[in-house]
Amino acid sequence: MKLNETQIKQIDRQIKRLIASGNYYGKMYSELGITGINSQEDFEKLPFSEKNDLRNAYPLGIMACDESEVVRIHSSSGTTGTPVIIPYTAKDVDDWATMFARCYETAGITNKDRIQITPGYGLWTAGIGFQAGCEKLGAMAIPMGPGNTEKQLKMMIDMQSTVITATSSYALLLAEEVKKRGLKDKLNLKKGVIGSERWSEQMRERIHNELGIELYDIYGLTEIYGPGIGINCSFESGIHYWDDYIYIEIIDPVTGEQVPDGEEGEIVITTLVKEGAPLLRFRTHDLSRIIPGECQCGSKYPRIDIIKGRSDDMFKVHGVNMFPCQVEDLLKQVEGASSEYSITIARDEDNNKDVMLLTVEADGKYDFEAVSARTAELFRSLIGVSPKVIVLPIGTLPRSEKKTKRVIDYRNN
Ligand code: ZN
Repeated sequence: MKLNETQIKQIDRQIKRLIASGNYYGKMYSELGITGINSQEDFEKLPFSEKNDLRNAYPLGIMACDESEVVRIHSSSGTTGTPVIIPYTAKDVDDWATMFARCYETAGITNKDRIQITPGYGLWTAGIGFQAGCEKLGAMAIPMGPGNTEKQLKMMIDMQSTVITATSSYALLLAEEVKKRGLKDKLNLKKGVIGSERWSEQMRERIHNELGIELYDIYGLTEIYGPGIGINCSFESGIHYWDDYIYIEIIDPVTGEQVPDGEEGEIVITTLVKEGAPLLRFRTHDLSRIIPGECQCGSKYPRIDIIKGRSDDMFKVHGVNMFPCQVEDLLKQVEGASSEYSITIARDEDNNKDVMLLTVEADGKYDFEAVSARTAELFRSLIGVSPKVIVLPIGTLPRSEKKTKRVIDYRNN
């Protein structure tokens, strides 16, 4: 998706602000001789920004305004533990709440709703984002924070909460408790707004069934305001995002080039009007694609697909990008196959091509040859690559409590 004229002007303004502030990125742009942009081509020449920059600039090196304008900070630690600090001005806080309120509206939530907020409050952006958006919308916030399931259920019943906001794992826990205690009839829940970590279709089904609610995926990350920069509508055809606040491009994570609309790659986000810590071309490492065309709901806001996983997990064979989650999805469609698999990739020098070996498991009562043929056929039609498939009895592949390494690549060794 290309930048429109307004977005080009907004980004040009951001670059000039950053340079004037002399912050981490301002200095970087000055050193690179960047003074602004006038076109898509100029924009695509800008360097990417990364979480590592934010760590290098710890604690306040990315602040791009006078400190007197900063009203709040948030922080995310990520998986490595080194924190990053994001400063917000009053306008940033207000813009975020506006975006969040728009998310609630897109989910059909109104000022008559009672929203029970279970994500945590504090340094991270979750609880307070759900709360500010709720107040901006004019709905009633029930600010519970995480845990204390006993009290959550009591408030849910006594206050007749209509909306639950939660991580997918906590929503599942609540759903199980509701079922166990037979409380479903006492609840008035209609909708759930769920933080957009990747969650399985089975998990979604269970929460949906046990609580009898519509589910919405909200997207966002601390570096870019927090949750609330996008959400799916009731047509469940991707996530609408707010292109008056952010610009999203999808890049090939290996080459860094933008891919055509519709093609999968890594989400890169540019903030258009942020003041405290503007970020241009921030690499999220989240995988998705732009969904071309307009949504049936009539919204003009563009869409990305639900998050497919992390680019760090991607691998490439015959020039085709593949992700472990695609293989998982595909195996679900093979009767008899378990969810376990392993992939080995090597280079066939004689024939100058990559070879891919896919090992899957199947229940002994199924015909292994049929499982193998069906897997290969699905791989060809859905992913466009023909692997050699080996089928073994269930329990043969190694299991690991930690994340199992499923892809072994011998090509560069
Ligand atoms: Zn829509």
